[in-house]
Amino acid sequence: MSAKIETKCIHEGWKPKKGEPRQLPIYQSTTFKYDTSDEMGRLFDLEEDGYFYSRLANPTTDAVAKKICELEGGYAAILTSSGQAANFFAVFNICEAGDHILSSSSIYGGTYNLFGVTLKKMGIDCTFVDPTLPEEELAKYIKPNTKAVFGETITNPTVSILDIEKFAHLAHSHGVPLIVDNTFATPVNCRPFEWGADIVVHSTTKYMDGHSVTLGGCVVDSGNFDWTAYPDKFPGLTTPDESYHGITYTERFGKGAYITKITSQLMRDLGAVQTPQNAFYLNLGLESLHLRIQRHCENALAVAKFLKNHEKVLWVHYAGLEDDEYHELAQKYMPSGTCGVLSFAVKGGRQSSIDFMDKLKFISIVTHVADAKSCILHPASHTHRQMTDEQLREAGVEPDLIRLSVGIENIDDIIADIAQALE
Ligand SMILES: *Cc1c(COP(=O)(O)O)cnc(C)c1O
Repeated sequence: MSAKIETKCIHEGWKPKKGEPRQLPIYQSTTFKYDTSDEMGRLFDLEEDGYFYSRLANPTTDAVAKKICELEGGYAAILTSSGQAANFFAVFNICEAGDHILSSSSIYGGTYNLFGVTLKKMGIDCTFVDPTLPEEELAKYIKPNTKAVFGETITNPTVSILDIEKFAHLAHSHGVPLIVDNTFATPVNCRPFEWGADIVVHSTTKYMDGHSVTLGGCVVDSGNFDWTAYPDKFPGLTTPDESYHGITYTERFGKGAYITKITSQLMRDLGAVQTPQNAFYLNLGLESLHLRIQRHCENALAVAKFLKNHEKVLWVHYAGLEDDEYHELAQKYMPSGTCGVLSFAVKGGRQSSIDFMDKLKFISIVTHVADAKSCILHPASHTHRQMTDEQLREAGVEPDLIRLSVGIENIDDIIADIAQALE
């Protein structure tokens, strides 16, 4: 029987043998030694497993990738230097110029820009769709050159919930994989593979690290999508890679094809690696992830209820609230809780929201979320400040929306800080 998630958070990835360090060691080395030239040659041919250069693989980062893979219930995983790099690799591994992807429009601003602007410059088109549309409507936006469908389990900053099964069905009935960004829910609260997602991506910068220490990302493959069933759609996986001695990834690596291709092509050429030192910090965060997530959710629900009943608050979005429009989806996909992030607005418009934030004492104004320390941001003044009120509304971000990331401090102190700032 496989271990429960709490135990996996602590024990997966690094399993020391006799006399080895109990804690994951930091292999602070760019390179690894071999005895003969032939041994090294076999590694380059991917004929043998082994480390040779830390841009491709390193024992510390590999151990942490393995832990996240086990938490998600995946087949293989790779760490990246940031969440942005993870999302880019996840898509670019199966798309090239002339291809198209379909993405939920309610996604993180950085990903929206990556898909809508930067991928476009590389010849990959993205159609953004309202994720609440019925499947038949969504299907109208799939094209013959569509190679992937994308969504976020819990969206940043609007905290809506993705109907993962609907999106998986849409993707699979058109022969493409569903890629899900599971950053806010984390595998402690939701495991998208159990609902049909094929690839999961993370910004490990958020709850997984959890202490605002280190940027990072991760791509996890379930191993469930059969690329060989659609060889014309995914030639990069199903035909020989001339840049790698004519290896055909699906033939040689089976369920490991997708992640091996990221390592041996994208990491080799683009080099967005996570350093062993950063992976070590990330691993410390992962060890307490299950405890922190539980407290984040308890605290956020209490804050959401407090705000809901406060006369100076206009509205609150938190899927943990029973009357929230996403409560039902949250109950289905993440019954033990959603996350610590919620959004709300203070009565009186944009300026009242700003005045409220300026009066807070320990809840700090930072461009960050999903951290042990409570923090707050006003997207219209910060992350989205170049947009007009009209553009903000189009992106689903109200000009008075405040994004509050509830930390793991004592709940009475958090509520007291919010209460005095509202007065
Ligand atoms: C922060 C975030 C990202 C980007 O991650 P970085 O580590 O900042 O590059 C992507 N997706 C979501 C949902 C995020 O919250």
